Amino acid sequence: MGSSSDPRLTGLKAFLQGHPEIQYATPTSSNYEALRKTYILDNPAVPLAIVRPQNAEDVAALVTYAKANGLRIAVRSGGNSLFGKSMVNDALIVDMRDIAYVKLNESKTLATVGGGIIMGDLANELTKQGLATAMGTIPFVGFVGWSTYGGYGPFSPQYGLGCDNIVGAKVVNFQAEVIEADEEMLRGIRGAGGAFGPIVEMTVKVYQLKNILGGLIIFDSTDILATARKVSAGYQALQAEGLPSPLYVQQFALTAPFGKIFALAFFWGSDDHEQGQAWLTKVAALGDVIMNTVTPNTLAGFLEVMKTAVPPNAYGSIETMSIRGMTPEAIEIIARNIQRMPSTAGTSFSMHELRGSSAVPKADSIFASREPHMMLEIITTVADKTDLREAQEWAQSFLSGLREMDPENILPGTYISVTAPGSNSFENIFGVNYKPLLEMKRKWDPEGIYALAPPEVE
Ligand SMILES: Cc1cc2nc3c(=O)[nH]c(=O)nc-3n(C[C@H](O)[C@H](O)[C@H](O)COP(=O)(O)OP(=O)(O)OC[C@H]3O[C@@H](n4cnc5c(N)ncnc54)[C@H](O)[C@@H]3O)c2cc1C
Repeated sequence: MGSSSDPRLTGLKAFLQGHPEIQYATPTSSNYEALRKTYILDNPAVPLAIVRPQNAEDVAALVTYAKANGLRIAVRSGGNSLFGKSMVNDALIVDMRDIAYVKLNESKTLATVGGGIIMGDLANELTKQGLATAMGTIPFVGFVGWSTYGGYGPFSPQYGLGCDNIVGAKVVNFQAEVIEADEEMLRGIRGAGGAFGPIVEMTVKVYQLKNILGGLIIFDSTDILATARKVSAGYQALQAEGLPSPLYVQQFALTAPFGKIFALAFFWGSDDHEQGQAWLTKVAALGDVIMNTVTPNTLAGFLEVMKTAVPPNAYGSIETMSIRGMTPEAIEIIARNIQRMPSTAGTSFSMHELRGSSAVPKADSIFASREPHMMLEIITTVADKTDLREAQEWAQSFLSGLREMDPENILPGTYISVTAPGSNSFENIFGVNYKPLLEMKRKWDPEGIYALAPPEVE
């Protein structure tokens, strides 16, 4: 498999000689390990080769070659798949990182980006122009991988999910042609990502926004059970009164150098900072604040702040569940499991909220969890591999606790990007959009050349 005598490699190398612009690595190359490295460190996959196309035509040429030679294709951008979807054993990895441009239209309402761009680079370019688009909070996450499978983040109440902002995409289809996705394919891309082929370019809506207000609020967590209960219940009360769309609050718990903390990321995505400061006062009053880093910032600057809350790479994964509401029962289960969370670097818990315009059914997207909910992430991406077992045991027991809550409060669907393969069905994840997705997959990937691309429906 992938050894220097593998005839598949001999053929591939001969093909790549005709495309000297495409950098590549095979298992015996000195740069192979560096290119193979992804966010999750313990992925044992040994890809056949990793290739770095420079443009859409290179990707098309690679797909033509892979198809003709029966090579399985996987696409990598930011490398943050939690389940090894972009670094697959024995596959040809199309590493998109060199296709990472940003172009704005004249009226600065749309940005066209290369398929391999990461969030931080896009945020930098948009910040320079006083613009923003829906994005997540961690700068090294790939923008296409994030947005096309859903894309939860701080702009979702205001701009919609990542996938809701996609207005165009260039895809290398199953015939290895670079095509402009039509409305029907875009509907599929808005939720099923790269299922129909590598996305070499994408166009998204952008919005005027100079400065945000954002940062971390850490609460006194000496009694973390009481703090988690109080802050979560207080936030629910605020929510019941109605929240403005620029406001996003991500509650989380992790182990800081000074101990286990319950905290939140505060985000105000509007230039009206007077109103933002008023909301900051309300949110900070939810608990006893020991640290508040919320400050006016650029979007790019905010992402850099958020990067400090996650390890740069890790061992392990994530468990998830989406719930309709933070009922007293849900708050109690969550608070108790935060109290039981191991104090190991990287073990954490986080809640993304979906509300507003992203939480209503949309005919032009197959992302299915379209109702207000909390997407819970039980995070076991630990810095030290020896901590993994303890973290995973905690995560499983947390999930068992959540499953005991009123079933009416549990969404059947989970967020595909954080759902471990096999732990939920695609019928649940895509709901009423599952059948249309199957039809799309049959139509646009009839030979299964993109069978490795999630969702791996047949
Ligand atoms: C630290 C961290 C923070 C995260 N934060 C959030 C968050 O705030 N909100 C949220 O919704 N999710 C979040 N996620 C999940 C993240 O959005 C997904 O894991 C996402 O798919 C990662 O994309 P990537 O390009 O970085 O990773 P990759 O591993 O490169 O790709 C992930 C998947 O997308 C596919 N893909 C990537 N680029 C393309 C392309 N151009 N064409 C076709 N297919 C492509 C890959 O084939 C693979 O299946 C986070 C994950 C991590 C590790």
